[in-house]
Amino acid sequence: MYLPAIFQGLSITIKHFFRKKPTIQYPEQKREFSQNFRGIHSLKRDEDGRERCTACGLCALSCPAEAITMTAAERKPGEEGLYREEKYAAVYEINMLRCIFCGFCEEACPKEAIYLDGDIAPANFERDTFIYGKDRLLEPIHNKVQNS
Ligand code: SF4
Repeated sequence: MYLPAIFQGLSITIKHFFRKKPTIQYPEQKREFSQNFRGIHSLKRDEDGRERCTACGLCALSCPAEAITMTAAERKPGEEGLYREEKYAAVYEINMLRCIFCGFCEEACPKEAIYLDGDIAPANFERDTFIYGKDRLLEPIHNKVQNS
C-alpha cells in the first residue's frame, strides 16, 4: 500500500542526486561577478600618484547608511606630491558592516576619488576588522606610477 509512495519518493531523490548542483565549493571556487557588481571601495590616485580625495565630505553626506567617516587636514608645504589639492582626508574610514554597497558615494564624488571596484569584504570574527581605513582603501602608489 505504501510501496508506490516510497518508490515515488525514491525516484525524486535519485533524480536530484544526479542533477548539476547549484551550489559551489566557495571559497575554492568563485562565481563570476555581474558587470554591475559593486565590491569594496578603493580610494584613487591621480596620474602623478597623488591622492584624489579632497575631503569634501560629499560621499559621507550621500551615504544612507552613515558608513563613512573622515577627518580633513590641510596640505603642508612640500606635500604637493602626496595630495592633489590643499585639503585631504587625514582619516578616511568605511564601516563595511554598515555599508549596503549602494554606490551613492561613488556617484557623489566630484573628484572621481572613490570607486566600488574591489572584491567582496572577506568574512571575519572581529567587528573591528570591518572598519576599513586608508591603509586598506587607498590604491597602492607603486601601481599608479608603474602604469603611467
Ligand atoms: Fe555608504 Fe552606499 Fe558608499 Fe556604502 S556604497 S559607503 S552605503 S554610500
